[in-house]
Amino acid sequence: MQTLSNFPATRQAGLDLLSKFSPQAGPDYARGRNFDFGPNQPRFVSGLSPFVRRRLVTEQELITEVLKQHSADAAEKFIQEVFWRSYWKGWLELRPTVWQSYQTGLRGAWNAIQTQDGLERNWRTACMGNTGIDCFDAWAKELSSTGYLHNHARMWFASIWIFTLRLPWELGADFFLRHLLDGDPASNTLGWRWVAGLQTVGKTYLARPDNIKKYTNGRFTPTGLATKAVPLTGPENPPCGTLAPANPIDTALATGLLIHDEDLDLTHINIKRLPFQATAILSSHSTITPLKAADHVVQFAQGALCDTLGRLPAANSAPHTVKDVYDLIAWAQTHGLKQIITCYAPVGPIADQLTQARKLLAEQGILLVTVMAPYDRMTWPHATRGFFRFKDNITHFIAQISQRK
Ligand SMILES: Cc1cc2nc3c(=O)[nH]c(=O)nc-3n(C[C@H](O)[C@H](O)[C@H](O)COP(=O)(O)OP(=O)(O)OC[C@H]3O[C@@H](n4cnc5c(N)ncnc54)[C@H](O)[C@@H]3O)c2cc1C
Repeated sequence: MQTLSNFPATRQAGLDLLSKFSPQAGPDYARGRNFDFGPNQPRFVSGLSPFVRRRLVTEQELITEVLKQHSADAAEKFIQEVFWRSYWKGWLELRPTVWQSYQTGLRGAWNAIQTQDGLERNWRTACMGNTGIDCFDAWAKELSSTGYLHNHARMWFASIWIFTLRLPWELGADFFLRHLLDGDPASNTLGWRWVAGLQTVGKTYLARPDNIKKYTNGRFTPTGLATKAVPLTGPENPPCGTLAPANPIDTALATGLLIHDEDLDLTHINIKRLPFQATAILSSHSTITPLKAADHVVQFAQGALCDTLGRLPAANSAPHTVKDVYDLIAWAQTHGLKQIITCYAPVGPIADQLTQARKLLAEQGILLVTVMAPYDRMTWPHATRGFFRFKDNITHFIAQISQRK
């Protein structure tokens, strides 16, 4: 089982887990991946998501390692799941207002909690795992204590939250983001929207007792679940935009490095070639939720940043911890910076802060340059329609990844 202590937030721990898992990424994964035998039990899925989410280990590394052990056909299911992540990231990147609508909805639901005792009680009961629905309560507690839930359990949990408990979906998505070690603005928001019938309009996910019984190996046979999942209604999906163009780097300017935990793979920034005069770090955990992220989420994010710094040249290893946008500007001014370079932050809390910072920095004559990973520039523009169109490109993506090695 993944307990919190099994998830040291280091790249090495992620690579070790990947090499341990990769022999089972072929037929074993395809056969067993939907089963959730529960905490402390053997499992067929990798548990790699906390590492991939912050890019301590990259999507390319997952695919490359797995293809050393299996043919692309044998590992098809696993590879597809990795590309589901890329698809969700790209989909949201091309439609950033969906993240803003989620935040507006969450603020509305949170205001309703302050004024409606019944809603407040039901929300708290669900978060504490005291609803009396045994599987749901077990998953709420598992999530709070381990920082992880199996994909199938996430689907069942979200479905029961929305259609049986009739709680606002945004509060459920926020409960996940506060507790998941892999809590991700794209996979989480769009996963919840998909269950609710907002993502693929009109298509919902209904948690069925027989399906839960089968895939939990008989651990649970819940009663009293909703028997219908009527889609929630919301605004139409916005039209698909385009990716931001690449920003040029001016190597003549006094430059600082900003590291954030939306992308800790600094290989595309080429740290060694650029003389940075100062380094700063920024974490997403304090702004990903209006409430407070669980301690284990904060520790994982901080540990991941610390591990990344430990792998940098010594000159970059004593960073300033950025508190907010104004603090970032003050740091840049203190060091006389004219340019800040950082990894591109996909739609989410860090991107929101960087958008605000870019304008304020420009007023001070300081450039903010964001460098997008080539993998993202390759995959995201294809997330224009459904996943089934996107996955037609997987063979091409794999060929590109192999060439870049
Ligand atoms: C309601 C809901 C909320 C979710 N919230 C998140 C989230 O906040 N962060 C997150 O990373 N995933 C989220 N997922 C997707 C999925 O549940 C997790 O990525 C997966 O359970 C991670 O476990 P694993 O590493 O053992 O997966 P494996 O099955 O071993 O898959 C390997 C990798 O592929 C990616 N992946 C697998 N399944 C999916 C999927 N369905 N969607 C997107 N990527 C996938 C992950 O990066 C994962 O590490 C959510 C799914 C649902 C239904």
